[in-house]
Amino acid sequence: MITATLRHFALSELSHHELVDNLAAVWLDDIRDLFGYPLTVTCAARTVEENAALPGSAPTSLHLVGRAFDLRWIEDAAHRWAFVEAVYLASGERSVELEFVPFGENRHIHVALAGDGHASTLIFSEV
Ligand SMILES: [Zn+2]
Repeated sequence: MITATLRHFALSELSHHELVDNLAAVWLDDIRDLFGYPLTVTCAARTVEENAALPGSAPTSLHLVGRAFDLRWIEDAAHRWAFVEAVYLASGERSVELEFVPFGENRHIHVALAGDGHASTLIFSEV
């Protein structure tokens, strides 16, 4: 549950915001602040049923615990780089998942705050 006051996102922009992890929401807000351009969240938290119905979604998806966010694809290459920098700077020593789905109808950027003990990952995916 989000208890912090976010600077850049209304709760209505985050699907199932009641399931979103507070630290992950603050982390996303920090990324947005450092990025300096608007970010559109197309999916935040998911229920088990919603997750199972999505092609390519993992049963261990961090969307299920409110720590993952799907963002509208960033068209501008320089802005994409600024986004990667913002993720890096906002994350510090915390582990992240960063996934680019650059093609197709489902193109988007997935970013998640992973738990302790996970290595950070950079993935390129088709779905
Ligand atoms: Zn995702």
